[in-house]
Formats: sequence, structure tokens, C-alpha cells
Amino acid sequence: MTERRPGFPSWIASSANPGASRSGAKPAARNLVGQAPRAPMPLPMPIGVGMDSVAVRSRMVQRLAQGGVTSQAVLQAMASVERHHFVDSALVNQAYEDTSLPIGLGQTISKPSVVARMTALLLGAECARAGLGRVLEIGTGCGYQAAVLGRVAQEVYSIERLRGLHEKARTNLRPLRLAHVHLLFGDGMLGYAQGAPYAGILAAAGGDAIPDAWCEQLAVGGRLVAPMGNATGGQSLLVIDKTSYGLKRTVLEAVNFVPLKSGIA
Ligand code: SAH
Repeated sequence: MTERRPGFPSWIASSANPGASRSGAKPAARNLVGQAPRAPMPLPMPIGVGMDSVAVRSRMVQRLAQGGVTSQAVLQAMASVERHHFVDSALVNQAYEDTSLPIGLGQTISKPSVVARMTALLLGAECARAGLGRVLEIGTGCGYQAAVLGRVAQEVYSIERLRGLHEKARTNLRPLRLAHVHLLFGDGMLGYAQGAPYAGILAAAGGDAIPDAWCEQLAVGGRLVAPMGNATGGQSLLVIDKTSYGLKRTVLEAVNFVPLKSGIA
């Protein structure tokens, strides 16, 4: 039997009070009705960045497609989110190069090819057309990946442990007015139980093990994508699919993410 990835949980709570009105048995996520993600809102054109950002961004998207990203949903998301609004003004000229960039407090924004790859993995083949339901991101950083997730998912919860970056992401995302992208300040190692179960969980920071809370908060039929420490001291991208029979782990290519840390600062 093949598992269907969950669409949008039909009983999602209101964003104002995500824990409210939920009682009794939760329906199996794979039985829930999928809905298409909301249409992307037109984003304002950049002002004063000294470049034609639409053209530069479409060249980035072309390179992503040449590099093997086949999901149209992901390519459209990468085309619509203006990465140069998420980096410091001194780095704007590098915003559409395939490079990671510093975002302050010793953290980095992942390079576009990694953001696209992880988003495509999270979507998987089954959800590429209908979009994902509710997703959780661990490590908001500057908010760029959260904005990309907001293009392919119905509801996004993104959690950051560094207050300075949480505030920065708020400032970066405010003009986009993405009411379905919720930024949280806290320790993402605990996940965010109030929003569970998630159709997808994506971690932007890597530890030596996947916290139990993440697997517990994943819906049956859901998928987790995260960097994890490997035996040679590096990191590999890990995909965990939660099936009704248990967790299926797949180890993919080597990656290089900032460390997953506990607590807040
Ligand atoms: N997705 C981000 C990438 C940020 S880098 C972006 O688009 O900018 C990874 C982030 O994970 C860092 O900001 C780091 O502070 C955060 N992080 C590390 N451990 C964490 C934890 N336990 N909970 C929440 N955030 C964490």
C-alpha cells in the first residue's frame, strides 16, 4: 500500500488561538481532504537595490532548474520570494548567487539550491500539485525559507531560538503580509506541539540526532527533512517519512548547516 501525503488538515485551529477547539481523536492525516495552497500574493517591486530583481531572480530559477529542481511549485516559489530583501544591504548584490550568506549572530541563510532542494523534498511527488498542509520550520533565521514555504503550504509555523533573528524575520516578513506564516520565538528542539500534527517538518540547523518531539509531531503520511551529523563528523540531509507502519529514514547528500542548539538566547 502506498501512503498518501497529508494535505491540509480539515480541523486546523485559527491562527489567533492555535491550540483551541481541539478535542477527541485526531483524524488520520492521510484521510484528510487536500486543498490547493493559496495563490501567491504579488510582491512589491524592490526599490533602490540597483538591479532588476525579476530578471536576476529568473536567472537564478533557470540555474536551479538546470541543477535538477523539477518541481514547478518550488521553482515558482523561488521566483516569487525576493531574497535580496532578506540579506543585509551590503550583500544585496550576492542575493541571487548560489551562496549562503551571513544574517547576523553567527548564523547564515542557506544557498538557494539548498532551500529549493529541501522544499522539493518536503513537498515530495504526492504533494507537488496540491501543496502541503501545515508545516513546521525549525530555525527561522532571516525568514527567507519560511516565506518560500509559505508559497507551497497552507500554514507555516517557524520557530527561532535567537531573539535577535526572530525580530529580524518579523521585520523582513511584515511587508509580505503572509497571514498564514506564523513566527515563533522558542526552542525548536521541542517542536511546536500546539500546531501538530504537521504534514512537513523542515529543520535549518543540524544536530547529532533528530529530537523525538519532531517525529511525534509529524502526521502519519508526513515527511521530515533535516540535516543530521554523520559518522565522519560532517552532516547529511536526512528524510524521515512517517507511515502507519513506522518511520522510514533515507540519508541523502552531504550538507553544511549551522548547529542545532537547545534553549533560547
Ligand atoms: N531558514 C533560515 C536559515 C537560518 S540558519 C533562513 O532562511 O534564514 C538556522 C537557524 O536555526 C539559526 O538562526 C539558528 O539560530 C536556528 N536554530 C538553531 N537551533 C535552534 C533551535 N533549537 N530552535 C530554533 N532555532 C534554532
